[in-house]
Amino acid sequence: MATEQTKFSVMCSLFNWTQRAKSPAKKRAKFRKFLDSFCADRNFFPAIRLVLPNLDRERGSYGLKESVLAISLIDALGMSRDSEDALRLINWRKGGAKTGANAGNFALVATEVLQRRQGTASGGLTIKEVNDLLDQLAASENRAEKTQVLSTFIQKTNAQEMKWIIMIVLKDLKLGISEKSIFHEFHPDAEDLFNVTCDLKLVCEKLRDRNQRHKRQDIEVGKAVRPQLAKRVANAAEAWKKLHGKEVVVECKFDGDRIQIHKNGTEIHFFSSRNFLDHSEYAHAMSEIIQQNILVDRCILDGEMLVWDSSLNRFAEFGSNQEIAKAARDGLDSDRQWLDVAFDILYFGDTSVIHQTLKERHEILRKVVRPLKGRLEILVPNGGLNSHCSSGEPCWSFIAHNVDEVEKFFKETIENRDEGIVVKDLGSKWEPSDRSGKWLKLKPEYIQAGADLDVLIIGGYYGSGRRGGEVAQFLVGLAERPSPNTHPKRFISFCRVGTGLSDDELDALVTKLKPYFRKYEYPKKRPPSFYQVTNHSKERPDVWVDSPEKSIILSITSDIRTIESEVFAAPYSLRFPRIDRVRYDKAWYECLDVQSFIELVQSSNGT
Ligand code: ATP
Repeated sequence: MATEQTKFSVMCSLFNWTQRAKSPAKKRAKFRKFLDSFCADRNFFPAIRLVLPNLDRERGSYGLKESVLAISLIDALGMSRDSEDALRLINWRKGGAKTGANAGNFALVATEVLQRRQGTASGGLTIKEVNDLLDQLAASENRAEKTQVLSTFIQKTNAQEMKWIIMIVLKDLKLGISEKSIFHEFHPDAEDLFNVTCDLKLVCEKLRDRNQRHKRQDIEVGKAVRPQLAKRVANAAEAWKKLHGKEVVVECKFDGDRIQIHKNGTEIHFFSSRNFLDHSEYAHAMSEIIQQNILVDRCILDGEMLVWDSSLNRFAEFGSNQEIAKAARDGLDSDRQWLDVAFDILYFGDTSVIHQTLKERHEILRKVVRPLKGRLEILVPNGGLNSHCSSGEPCWSFIAHNVDEVEKFFKETIENRDEGIVVKDLGSKWEPSDRSGKWLKLKPEYIQAGADLDVLIIGGYYGSGRRGGEVAQFLVGLAERPSPNTHPKRFISFCRVGTGLSDDELDALVTKLKPYFRKYEYPKKRPPSFYQVTNHSKERPDVWVDSPEKSIILSITSDIRTIESEVFAAPYSLRFPRIDRVRYDKAWYECLDVQSFIELVQSSNGT
């Protein structure tokens, strides 16, 4: 059967089967069988791009993350935005009795909602039709157009098929089979070729015959290459142990956009490691600087694109990138500008240098790049960015001689609220897509910036001074995840929060809760049985809310970092929490549960 004429429902059966099957070998065999039977014309790309949507760069971005997708689906289904199902979609992350076991998995929450509105019979779309509609979705410029395409999808699919469309749009099928296995089953050289081209279409077209081997290809200027990755370790001691006996460089982990700069004469590309696309927005501001300060005709630099504030003379948060792009478009002056920090070089002159050691590559980097403060810098020990350190101490990268130096540097980066550190073996080669541990990363735990957490007030602390004798801060809790269709029964202490409300808002809240405050007399009384606090900590509020049902939900936000908690009963607490809003509109049982919170932390932390 020709691939494009194969029904999408066949792919959905493959996905469902693969997701359920336990044995990796059987999953692989089934995938092979699918390719043989349903892609008999060897036109593999239309099918494989649906299996590996995160590697498909032909379509660009859909601009649909879960939150926007939720609203578009609500509109596409013609639902009222405050209906129960609409709220389910909007609050897909949160636990509580209503969202039940599917909380945290957008596609599953959406399927629940879709099942009540779509038939069970397959809509009959072919792979070609699905790809055409996905092309339209990616090409549509505003939410109304996207909603229109989604509504066409909904008309032409059943809930199961729509679930997989949503997973494809979100670029994660959660099939429980690695990308490596999929590549390998397709063709033994597919992964290697993809790693050095980042071009799934080319891989599918070049490797049509599984029995014909493809000569290993090195990297080329002009073709994005998959990045060398860092393996996460828990602490400095683990990092040190893993790289024992090696010469080690420790670097700040910058929080920007990983960009490969490919220079070939006057042709310059800025490939993002995230989606392999050429980011032309950097070209306008950076091309001339690259031309003038990279002293070789052909090369590939690996580094992080950051934002530099030239009036404050320091890095600005990366979020300000939109602002710079807009200022550049409007021809306005701005104090903020792009700064590329090159930490590696992959190609130099006529050859790839990834097979040389990092130490050798640093030397090449020193020769090739003429640093320009605030625009183009290199990250090498005893040079480059470090030359700006006033005290003479190493500040962005240094060669470590013992674990204490690594530990100290890590602590400093946390204090500065940086992303963390990267520890690298100076004797290592640079290998596309490798995460075997030549580079190690240490990061503090954090949660997604801007995530609102709905927590329940379980206790209060008296204020001092002006607010003496009145509750001025709260102990808030997360729910223990209830069984489906029931309300939570226990709440776990999570953090203490006081700031964020105006005096009037605080007064109104305390007045509402006052009738339910019960004094806590330490150590005589134990906390009420529906609250869990740690035994080993003396952290107790001055008053408890005597029943969760009488209490009120607060939306809190925090600095993006969480901290491992010894004081509160939940495994993590928040750094610098503040109250965003009092949620009088929410019922007490709509409190976030601990498990969903942990999933949120883990999904934010990734690998
Ligand atoms: P993360 O979300 O932690 O950035 P990731 O999966 O994108 O993870 P990793 O390989 O795990 O990438 O971590 C390395 C990433 O850290 C690089 O992709 C790069 O964007 C960033 N980074 C920042 N500073 C450095 C540095 N000095 N050396 C290497 N990578 C750095």
